[in-house]
Amino acid sequence: MQLMLLGLPGAGKGTQAERITADYGVPHISTGDMFRKAIAAGTELGNEVKAYLDSGRLVPDELTIRVVRDRLEQSDAKDGFLLDGFPRTLPQAEALDATLGSMERPLSAVLYIHVPQDVLLARLTGRRICKSCGSTYHVVFQPPAAEGVCDKCGGELYQRSDDTEEAVATRLEQYAHTAPLVGYYQQRGILHQVDGTRSIDDVYAEIRQILSPLRR
Ligand code: ADP
Ligand code: ADP
Ligand code: ZN
Repeated sequence: MQLMLLGLPGAGKGTQAERITADYGVPHISTGDMFRKAIAAGTELGNEVKAYLDSGRLVPDELTIRVVRDRLEQSDAKDGFLLDGFPRTLPQAEALDATLGSMERPLSAVLYIHVPQDVLLARLTGRRICKSCGSTYHVVFQPPAAEGVCDKCGGELYQRSDDTEEAVATRLEQYAHTAPLVGYYQQRGILHQVDGTRSIDDVYAEIRQILSPLRR
């Protein structure tokens, strides 16, 4: 299955991606995670993208597309993948179509996790991430068993530098570039809307129902 998650920052894409990859065995390809790793490692890519992530602006299309193309060529993506946070603009969506067309692996489904804007700020400012394994938590909605410590690997939890009110406001403005993708995939008949306001378990149950007829 070639899957993609679409939704505002804080909609729950990364949280649901953890479950989907565990159950369906598709690699989780998150452009945000790849950029954060590159920044932490101090690579050339990291230096190029750091200012964009810190401020909440989108990384230029050309660079983002190159990173995803390289990732899709790796062997673990041959039998399917789950894209999270890419594409985020129409040019990115068109570039993805061209790449997947040449691989003869079109998208099977786009899961659009829909939430109203007013719930996002609380989700994003309370979000915590594991430094070691990247798992997502929330201080109220999805707390770890021991404060500040990852349940899965014992790693240290941290707050993303762009999960501040100021950067969140910029990221929500940037979503204007992403909103047209809803119509783009709806037109192709592969868009599935999911109610992201429900509990994490309920959202995942809805996703499983959508995916069950697609599973080979
Ligand atoms: P995204 O990847 O779309 O930006 P995340 O999956 O990182 O969103 O979720 C943002 C924050 O909200 C995280 O702290 C996560 O634990 C929490 N969260 C995710 N889904 C839900 C939900 N259905 N209800 C309440 N909190 C949620
Ligand atoms: P969120 O989980 O809040 O939706 P992400 O982790 O997906 O955020 O993205 C974090 C940041 O990485 C974005 O604010 C942007 O600067 C950059 N980024 C991630 N994906 C893309 C993309 N497809 N195009 C441009 N910039 C991106
Ligand atoms: Zn961890």
